[in-house]
Amino acid sequence: MQALQFFSRFLLGLGGALLCLHAVALRAAETEPTPIQAKIVALQDLAETQQDESLKQLVALLKDLRADAALDDRREALEAVIAMYIRTGQPSEASKLNIELGALGTRYHDDRANAMALNYQASLLKDQGKLDLAAPVIEQALLIASRVNDKKLTGRVNSTASIVYSALGNFQSALQHQLVVMGSLEEGNRHAELRRVDAMDSISTLYLSLKNPQMALEYNAKATELAASLGAQGMLVTLTIDRGYTYAEQGKLDDAAKTYLEALAIAHKILDRRNEGIILNNLADVSLSQGHYPSCVKFAQQAIPLAHKLGDGSLEASAMVNQGLCHMGLGNVPQGVAEVDSGIAFFRKGNAKPDIETVLGQLSTAYEKAGLYMEALKAMQEQRSLTAELFRTDRDRALTEMKAKFDASQREKQIEALEQKNQVQSIELKNKSLQRIVSLLSTLAVGAVAVTIALLYRKVRKSNRELHETNLKLEQQSTHDPLTGLLNRRAFQDKMKIRSRMVERRATGPVAPPHALVLLDIDHFKLINDNYGHTAGDLVLVEISRRLQLIMRENDMLMRWGGEEFLIFLNHIPIEHLTTVIQRVLDTVARTAFVVEERSISVTTSIGFISLPQADGADNELNWEKALQLADAALYMAKAQGRNQAIGVGNIDVPPSELAELLQGDLEHAVARGAVKIQRIPGPAATQASMEKI
Ligand code: GH3
Ligand code: MG
Ligand code: MG
Repeated sequence: MQALQFFSRFLLGLGGALLCLHAVALRAAETEPTPIQAKIVALQDLAETQQDESLKQLVALLKDLRADAALDDRREALEAVIAMYIRTGQPSEASKLNIELGALGTRYHDDRANAMALNYQASLLKDQGKLDLAAPVIEQALLIASRVNDKKLTGRVNSTASIVYSALGNFQSALQHQLVVMGSLEEGNRHAELRRVDAMDSISTLYLSLKNPQMALEYNAKATELAASLGAQGMLVTLTIDRGYTYAEQGKLDDAAKTYLEALAIAHKILDRRNEGIILNNLADVSLSQGHYPSCVKFAQQAIPLAHKLGDGSLEASAMVNQGLCHMGLGNVPQGVAEVDSGIAFFRKGNAKPDIETVLGQLSTAYEKAGLYMEALKAMQEQRSLTAELFRTDRDRALTEMKAKFDASQREKQIEALEQKNQVQSIELKNKSLQRIVSLLSTLAVGAVAVTIALLYRKVRKSNRELHETNLKLEQQSTHDPLTGLLNRRAFQDKMKIRSRMVERRATGPVAPPHALVLLDIDHFKLINDNYGHTAGDLVLVEISRRLQLIMRENDMLMRWGGEEFLIFLNHIPIEHLTTVIQRVLDTVARTAFVVEERSISVTTSIGFISLPQADGADNELNWEKALQLADAALYMAKAQGRNQAIGVGNIDVPPSELAELLQGDLEHAVARGAVKIQRIPGPAATQASMEKI
């Protein structure tokens, strides 16, 4: 086995480099850096040769910055230290400081800090393998960054997006983001040129993943030329390895071997041990494919001790597998199988399923060549069940990505639902008949039949994937509001149905904090449309949903309930926190004016809210629809009594016969006679503009 594993490692490495390189250097071309920023750049340069020292001094610099230092300086210092923590593998330190960066952004309404905090958060989540969480976060970062006209920021956020999407297996998106990175680079300074090499190399490898080796080689050649002119030897090694890998993928094995040997010479010259190990392993793999078993064994035998010395278990295991497969090719089956098994054991320990799957495929082929058909079949069967399992993960990832995209913006075009349904149907039919053939053949499976099964199975897998993707697109369409990307009313109703069923099942157990329903209706929204135009109104709605999303916790839900109405479901909110949260919602809408085409628009909102569960007077739990009606009545009261405020409903003390009347909306009457208690939370002091409207 070679590059699958090497390839992903390469991308990880690249991610670090792109995230960390020279936070301030590019800005220098736009405005003169402050003394502190100049010092940060110098310390970042130091990291190229003395990482630990650079980090130590950056941390000291950050500590010395007084609280009243300029916002730009504080942000840049924080970013530099966070990036270094990520680069040196200290995620918990990085995320601690990243919270500070996010707080800075919120406090000063600084979109640069907001976007970068989300950027690092996504990067940290990705490093933890939480791709489903990383995707929406990076989409949010992209959205915020798009409002700030700053090439450096654009480059960095898009670079992370490219890494996240590549890890998710969406190479097309990854490529698009990487192309934006390229476009955001300045001309003519060395740092930027080195980043350009990185970016072109990334683009090259992404093209390869997209099965376009021609473009991959083109970008590789451009990057190689630039790296050579910069004298960047380390990068030349990486680029040469990637070129070799591209040849290998095309089946041009002689070219691949020749190129790897070229890379080996450079790596050896500059003492790049790690890449030496990778290259030797890849050479073993190419020799295996060429059937040159003796040289395969020779390369693997050099790679194994090197990988061992470097403490790179996964490289060592790959080389071990290659050696074993070559021994099997040489007819030494028992030794070969033992070596392959020891390699697989390493991957099993780390639960590295994609690696195990690859090895099982190779092992099956090797058994088959040795005439051991039963063993070949067994390996293939295990591979098949792993393939199915991995496919399920792929499907979840596809969902994650689509959700992220829709949630953050409505960039994706609407898909014609009917056409999709037809497509689903035809894929379903195709699928059924293929599956029937596979199960029929499975029962006959001996020896040579195994190969046919593998081919057919691959087909089923592909058509399964098509089917699921189409289904997901359909589901996405019907659950999200196209303007804001938020969940829509239907999606919420579905979720609440599931919740009610869960409540029925959960008879006993510890008492969890209650939930809350918070219904917002923007004040005088019609006037915004009238005064600034419908498009401006749309933009205000999008911005409101963005602001609200920023203050939501992970398990809360935000929906677009109607035109200019939003509904928030606060999951398990301790009653003593509820007031603060509502206050924050009022503030987040009203505190800062919305700017549309350089015009400032002041917006306030009215809110009705209620916590759940809520007894109905006869001590039955009020269902959520009725609770929502009460929240609506409270909202109406908030409007009638001056707007820009929230009113909460609690302690209902009416007989069930009166509940219906109450639900009709006559809340004021019920409050007046003490049957219902309310809580009133005023919004922030009205601005001049909203005062005029009232
Ligand atoms: P109130 O303070 O009582 O809520 O006054 P209001 O004007 O906000 O309430 P009303 O319900 O009369 O008007 C809501 C307006 O919101 C009317 C409608 O044109 C506008 N609206 C609804 N959906 C959208 C949308 O998607 N985009 C834009 N631009 N306007 C919308
Ligand atoms: Mg309304
Ligand atoms: Mg309104």
